[in-house]
Amino acid sequence: APAPRLVPGACFSRVRPAPLRQPRLVALSEPALALLGLGAPPAAAAAREAREAEAALFFSGNALLPGAEPAAHCYCGHQFGQFAGQLGDGAAMYLGEVCTAAGERWELQLKGAGPTPFSRQADGRKVLRSSIREFLCSEAMFHLGVPTTRAGACVTSESTVVRDVFYDGNPKHEPCAVVLRIASTFLRFGSFEIFKAEDEHTGRAGPSVGRNDIRVQMLDYVVSTFYPEIQATHAVTRRTARMVAEWQCVGFCHGVLNTDNMSIVGLTIDYGPFGFLDRYDPDHICNASDNAGRYSFSKQPEVCKWNLQKLAEALVPELPLEQGEAILAEEYDAEFRRHYLHKMRRKLGLVRAEREEDAALVAKLLETMHLTGADFTNTFYLLSSFPVGPESPGLAEFLTALMEQCASLEELRLAFRPQMDPRQLSMMLMLAQSNPQLFALIGTRANVTKELERVEQQSRLEQLSPAELLSRNRGHWADWLQEYRARLEKDREGAADEDAWQAERTRVMHANNPKYVLRNYIAQNAIEAAENGDFSEARTHQSLLFPWVPQEGLGQGGRVRRVLKLLEAPYH
Ligand code: AMP
Ligand code: MG
Ligand code: MG
Repeated sequence: APAPRLVPGACFSRVRPAPLRQPRLVALSEPALALLGLGAPPAAAAAREAREAEAALFFSGNALLPGAEPAAHCYCGHQFGQFAGQLGDGAAMYLGEVCTAAGERWELQLKGAGPTPFSRQADGRKVLRSSIREFLCSEAMFHLGVPTTRAGACVTSESTVVRDVFYDGNPKHEPCAVVLRIASTFLRFGSFEIFKAEDEHTGRAGPSVGRNDIRVQMLDYVVSTFYPEIQATHAVTRRTARMVAEWQCVGFCHGVLNTDNMSIVGLTIDYGPFGFLDRYDPDHICNASDNAGRYSFSKQPEVCKWNLQKLAEALVPELPLEQGEAILAEEYDAEFRRHYLHKMRRKLGLVRAEREEDAALVAKLLETMHLTGADFTNTFYLLSSFPVGPESPGLAEFLTALMEQCASLEELRLAFRPQMDPRQLSMMLMLAQSNPQLFALIGTRANVTKELERVEQQSRLEQLSPAELLSRNRGHWADWLQEYRARLEKDREGAADEDAWQAERTRVMHANNPKYVLRNYIAQNAIEAAENGDFSEARTHQSLLFPWVPQEGLGQGGRVRRVLKLLEAPYH
């Protein structure tokens, strides 16, 4: 096996993108490209086509942008709790930075543009499947208000690589693709660990003078460029805590929280096996190779803290360890709790003064979702229509209203894959009719087959008939909704103008409870279409890969839109 490349006195290596055969544009994100000062696409079809051909050429790496000096960064990291030594950019290349007229600076990277000195045994390529997932999710997260690296373009090609072998034993050739990534910086915790690592690896007495110099230079650079306001370690701690609090509030599971995937400026970085929660399960694991569940959904906050501890260790001696650890102990948990509760209160529409019981109300909501198998995103979304006030409809009426929101047969057919067994579809409808609340809450667009199996399994396990189980779930919800209503009453009591309070509450809930997140099946539908060459829609201005995204909520009819609805929704 090739030995890791040693790069004495440097932490970047010059590289060249390796050309792809017939690069073709899959999609552009105009909001991301606008950051770089790239103008809107021209109206004329011919000019637009020329712009897209140019995008395919430059954003595949087949041509170099003027002034670009491609380089791969050498970093290391802790993977699944173990020090992994040198890793580096094995599949990503820096192109350089863009300084805009607005005075901003952005770093550009191509991901999947071929091997680098840090590719080890791998090929430095990315397949269309993973590229579409990174492209869509980066932009979706940004529009959900979560700090993230951005994606400006996704380009596919006629070049192929083999990643998996088919069940029939034949290798599966998949198209190579490239994503244009944009961020203020791609430096990671692992960018600092590398200086420490070299000693551990070579057994040398101390860091070489050259290395030591770069390490101080890099620290100076990060502090003066990204953290001019306050002491850097405090800020890294807080930004990281806020980023993970945002994940927990939107049901995002990263999947590979190694220190080399932790941004030094608190951005979500490296979209791999990520997943959004469907039904709420704190133990959800989205990475098939994470056997121990180290990176499960509910572990994310503590794992990010562990990663910050590793960063603190890597910052010695510039920052003495006791000092780094003290900052972490004082600030991380407090900042996480503060940001998490703030966001959760907005999701629940509690717009006035915080009360002591708020954290418990949130915890009990999650517990209720867990007990009843409720869908994370849909539950919050539906709560936006929960009635308040003594003269407003009671629980029974609310449940009836939910029932009315149940989708029509036609919409359900649209919502699920065409290959869905018709018997399963009718079973699902029966379930929906017998308990509209459960139906609405488990999520019409989740994998219903799986959910039905789960209900059956649970009913066997608890020796309750499905009907008894459903009625018990209804009881859990009635309990929590009662507490919620009582809490809302207190929120309203202090308000001078009730209508204004109600309007504010509705506005805040709608702004914080997205109707759509990038569920796996949505990404999957987009991928399957694109793999069959179906991205003609994606080639025209601002349309995307979604085969369908309903424009309105449940019960509004199965209207279909092929646009960036998911990405452009103003969920800040
Ligand atoms: P990740 O788990 O995606 O954070 O990747 C871990 C390490 O493997 C990083 O150093 C990546 O640059 C490297 N890597 C991932 N995919 C590839 C690839 N296709 N070719 C070469 N290196 C890769
Ligand atoms: Mg990575
Ligand atoms: Mg990766």
